[in-house]
Amino acid sequence: MAAITSLAVFCGSRNGDAQTHHALAHTLGGALATRGIRLVYGGGRIGLMGVVADAALAAGGEVIGVIPGHLHRLEVTHEGLSELITVASMHERKQRMFELADGFAVLPGGLGTLDETIEIMTWKLLDLHDKPLVLLDNEGYWAPLLDLIEHTMSAGFTGEEARALYQVAGDLDGLFAALSAAAQSGHESHPERL
Ligand code: AMP
Repeated sequence: MAAITSLAVFCGSRNGDAQTHHALAHTLGGALATRGIRLVYGGGRIGLMGVVADAALAAGGEVIGVIPGHLHRLEVTHEGLSELITVASMHERKQRMFELADGFAVLPGGLGTLDETIEIMTWKLLDLHDKPLVLLDNEGYWAPLLDLIEHTMSAGFTGEEARALYQVAGDLDGLFAALSAAAQSGHESHPERL
């Protein structure tokens, strides 16, 4: 299986309060460009979304944004991307991002980030794809989500196999290690089933 060449990044449309998340988004953008990995993201220029896109572009990387028409104003579309795809709905945004990416990385974010992450997890649980999904647990940001997933398991609503749906990385080295391990093991995708 070829290496990951296109990574979708889910992250906040706000910066959050901790500078460390901002720094991580910036470093990730540069690291993707350096590795020749295309960034696929939500197309805005605000929050961590804008930070990761700007850093990738500044380092010479390729960046594709996917934004629903009605969010152009709200999320302040980034005008300097390699490519901007305008779609009709939030559902289409997630599907296009899914199709364009070989894998997914999740930085700190809010409800939208959670929505995107859980959707990719549940599509994987339903065997619609087998693409890697890595939570960047910067400063333990995702610990409550990981606890909640465990809670659904211990209450009998989620099978233990769900632990295989995602990986958790504490830093960018962990992220890229997880992505290359996944690329070596290979993955299948069945977007026609979505
Ligand atoms: P947030 O983490 O709330 O700042 O949102 C991060 C990104 O997720 C933003 O670009 C939101 O527009 C996007 N988002 C929120 N809800 C959805 C959804 N249901 N489908 C697709 N994208 C979404």
